[in-house]
Amino acid sequence: MENRSGENVKSCGGTQESERKLKKSELTSFLERFNRNESIKAYVSDCSENMKSFFDDCDIKSFILIPILSHKRLWGFVGFDDCTTERVWLGNEESILRSMAENIGRRIERDEVMTALSDNRKLLATTLESVEEGVIVLDSELNVVHRNNQFISIFDKCCKGRALEGKLTLFEKCLVDGVSFIEKLKTLSKSTEIYNDTIRMVNRRYLECFSRSLDKHDPKMGRILTFRDVTDSVRMEKAKRDFIDSVAHELRNPLVLIQGYTELLLEKFGDGTEEREMLDIIFDATKREIKRISEFVDVGRTNPVYNFGIYSAFDIFSSIEQSLKIYTGKQVERIYDIKKYNFKSNVDEKLKNCYVKVDRDRILEILENLVTNSIKYSPPRNISIEFNATIVDNHVLFSIADCGIGISSSELPKIFKPFYQANRKDDLIVEGLGLGLANVKLHAESHNGQVDVKSEVGKGTTFEVSLPVAVKTAP
Ligand code: ADP
Repeated sequence: MENRSGENVKSCGGTQESERKLKKSELTSFLERFNRNESIKAYVSDCSENMKSFFDDCDIKSFILIPILSHKRLWGFVGFDDCTTERVWLGNEESILRSMAENIGRRIERDEVMTALSDNRKLLATTLESVEEGVIVLDSELNVVHRNNQFISIFDKCCKGRALEGKLTLFEKCLVDGVSFIEKLKTLSKSTEIYNDTIRMVNRRYLECFSRSLDKHDPKMGRILTFRDVTDSVRMEKAKRDFIDSVAHELRNPLVLIQGYTELLLEKFGDGTEEREMLDIIFDATKREIKRISEFVDVGRTNPVYNFGIYSAFDIFSSIEQSLKIYTGKQVERIYDIKKYNFKSNVDEKLKNCYVKVDRDRILEILENLVTNSIKYSPPRNISIEFNATIVDNHVLFSIADCGIGISSSELPKIFKPFYQANRKDDLIVEGLGLGLANVKLHAESHNGQVDVKSEVGKGTTFEVSLPVAVKTAP
């Protein structure tokens, strides 16, 4: 028998010289036939001179060679020869030899698979031990197939010396809502759904759990779950939120009071009086400060509160268009104390066929932020703002374009970061905290949308928000 390593038929006792001759001249045609899974039966007397000389050296008169295939690839062959006669190899002899070769092939395949599996397992175990997260692998029946030491240490802390039991009873004891977590796992085990949540342990620690099925398409392959202790960041996030909420509360309450009383006073003074003008300024300033506090609260929170409703896109953007027109005039006057500016707008009739799920006030807030920026970052002599709303590929697109100072390409990736303000060498009025665009992005993404920006220094900037259409009616 010869194997894949290409050694020659040493068992027949040929000399080095004859082996070399056979290998060079005949082996290729042998290999071609073996690769087609064909047996080779021959009388030596019928063979080429080359072969004859090889087999004569080994005293062989006839032979049969059967290929051994492993994973459909030639691994080697089994060979029998007769040194006395030119033997006719009968059909059943050949099939016995064939089934022997097939058995050998299967055995080799199994060995190879076992070696690969054991190598993979070793690799997997080493990899799992080297990650910081606790990892557990479950089969489709939710039996624990593997867990790393980090997993044991996370849950051991919670079990307080009680022996870690196998299986999932562990979660029941350690998690605040262990029973429903197991129920969730049972549901997940039937699907390939990805799961990601923060779960609470009875020892007041928080774990981020991420789980996916081992095979993207087949839940029967089981699931992997990773657990990361996120207690510190959850506590910090909560402390930050509480702090922001209480600061916002303290700041907003007196301002709301001032705004309310100013409104009452405004009713007492007619248009054009000096008192009215002063009260208008107080009213606007208070309103602005309340808005700024809301911006703070929104950026500080990961999930601001939204009042979503399903609206006709045309109706909502037409009404927003009207509010924006008024808003733009007021802002130009407030920021530059001028009345001259351009405001163009177009709400596409195509929007009549679709509905969007939005919080109207937040959409207006997005647009007011963008318009305020367009005014702030345009020279007062050239304030030209364009508002458009249309539909493209099942998305409502609305945009604000200006002809202002523009944003350099190096700044573009940073402008959506909270508190980021680009360095400017011009002498435009600088107001704001660098939170406007962070809020625009936050609100757009909370609507399952996204914001894009195109800008050229000295030419202008266009911000475009796209929102998925919720319902589309036939035109
Ligand atoms: P703020 O306006 O309070 O500085 P924003 O988050 O609204 O903060 O904007 C971040 C930065 O992006 C701004 O400081 C400015 O440099 C740049 N920017 C935003 N909008 C425009 C625009 N329309 N034209 C030019 N630059 C802009």
